[in-house]
Parts: sequence; C-alpha cells; structure tokens
Amino acid sequence: MSSASGVDSDPASSPIPFPPLKDDEVLLRLDIPSNCGAGLNGPYLGELSNPPSHNTIGYGSAGTVLEAGPKCFLQRDDKVAINLLTPCRRCHACCRDKEYSKCISKSLHTQYTPGMFISLPRALVALLPPPLTLEEGSLIQVLALAVKMVNKADPKPGQGVIVLGVSCLGIIFCLLARARGVRQIMVVDRDDGRLNVARKFVRFLETQSADTVAVMTCVVPEGTDAANGAAAVVQAFGREADVCVNATGEYGLMNVASKTVKSGGVYVHAGVRESEVSWDVLGMWREDITIHGEVCCEDLNYEEAVKMVMLGEVSLREFCPQE
Ligand SMILES: [Zn+2]
Repeated sequence: MSSASGVDSDPASSPIPFPPLKDDEVLLRLDIPSNCGAGLNGPYLGELSNPPSHNTIGYGSAGTVLEAGPKCFLQRDDKVAINLLTPCRRCHACCRDKEYSKCISKSLHTQYTPGMFISLPRALVALLPPPLTLEEGSLIQVLALAVKMVNKADPKPGQGVIVLGVSCLGIIFCLLARARGVRQIMVVDRDDGRLNVARKFVRFLETQSADTVAVMTCVVPEGTDAANGAAAVVQAFGREADVCVNATGEYGLMNVASKTVKSGGVYVHAGVRESEVSWDVLGMWREDITIHGEVCCEDLNYEEAVKMVMLGEVSLREFCPQE
C-alpha cells in the first residue's frame, strides 16, 4: 500500500482514511497509470505495433471519477485524462499559483499501479466526453505535448522536419506538422519495424519530391559519433532540417539531432528529466539554433487536446488497442 500523499490502493480498507475532499478536488480510480519514459507499450500503436526496442515517450494516465467536490463539475463514473502528479497542496506553487508541476514535494512523481485510488486537484484532470475511451484519454497527454511542441517549433510549408524516434509522440507531431502544410518530413529510428509503423500512420511515401508528403527513413547505427550520425541523416533527407524533434527522450541523440538543424533552425527535445547533460551548446549558439526542452507534465493544455479529438481534428483511436 502506498504511503504517498493522497494515494491509496483501497480507500475502503485503508487504515489511513482519505481526508474529506475540498470543493475543487476529485477522488479517482487510476485505470491507466502513465508509463512516461518507461517504454512504448505494444498495444498503443494498435494493430501496427511492434514490441518496444528502446526508450521512447509512451502514454499518459486516465481514470474514473469516484467522487468530486462541488466546484469540479464532474459526476461519479465520468472518465478523465489525468496529469498524474502528487502535489503536496501546501507549498507556494500549489496554494498560491496552482502550478502543481512546480510543487516542491519530493514525491511529485510516484509509482502507480492500475486500480489505485488517488485524490487530485480538479486542475489536473480533464473530462473525456463520450465516446472517448480511457485508452484515448491516456493519449491526451501525448497529444497535448505534441501540440505544445509543434507550437514552439512552428514548422511552415516548404520547411523540412526531422523526427527522431517512432513513438505516439513522434507520429502525432508528424500529423500536426502535416496539418500545417509541411511536406518534407523524415522519421529516423533504429528499428525498421517501427519505421513501418510511421509509414502506415502518416501515410508517408518513399520519395524526395518537394511536392509530396515524404519520409526518407534512416537508421543511425549505435556508437556513431554525432557529426557522422547527423551527416548520415542530412544526406538521407537531402537537406538540413528547419526543425528537428527528438521524440525519444534520449540525451545521447541530442548532439546528433542538433547537428541536423540548419543555421537559424529549431531543436525540440521531448522528455526533459536529467539535470546534467553533455551537449554542444556553443555550436548551437554559433549556428543560432533555438532550443526547446519540453517536460511531459508542465503547461500542457489537456482541455484543448480533448477538444481537438472531439472535433475530429486528430484521431487517437488508431493508436489504441484494437478490439
Ligand atoms: Zn506543493
């Protein structure tokens, strides 16, 4: 049984009863806990999936409302997407600014198992209206992260985009970039089976025509140094990238990724966790490359992501386990 604040596996039998819910708090059953950074689960690329081969950005959390305070505007049995943090609810960030991802709690990121009960501030959940499923709900975080990344990178028609790593995040980024009129996209992954997944999802064609939505896949062998790795990627693409997205979360690829970007371009790194990394900041400075590092739990607009799915702008169903 977890001792994390506000978390328990069974509130009915718990020796430590949950404190009464505040008006803006909600008690949830955690049906799908996040696997962020722990690997991409096979079923989450539907029928097209291959087993995971290395670290990628996975999926977020979803659950079911058991009880909600009067200011939550949620009903029992409502399904919700969850920003799975365990804030202390007493520190400055929690109480004054309601910026829970900046909470000083040492147990902000706790290990969870399916079926656990958890009480959270309303601001950390987003209602999933029917017919959205819990599985789709667990991808709301990924979509919200991809939206934030594409807004930061701001790719434009005529530009070239390189995405490192086939994951839900990488594929959704490709779809959002395509929706902005970007036709030159290359996905890089070590695993050719996973590249096939990208080809099918994004309906890439194997062509280098500037008029065609394209993917030129490229595998960078492990142990290749950054300059040679980047040169191989750029050669395969036929151009330097205006935008390079590292959707793998792997720091080892940062220097490869940044060296594929043209002068004045943008590098976006997803899944910032380490505090000490080694990369060529001076080189990027010289080349006037803009760097964005995105954390999976900060400043994501879950409500907007839910709206996009409800309006049919993005479909998450194909990424979910198929019946
Ligand atoms: Zn706090």
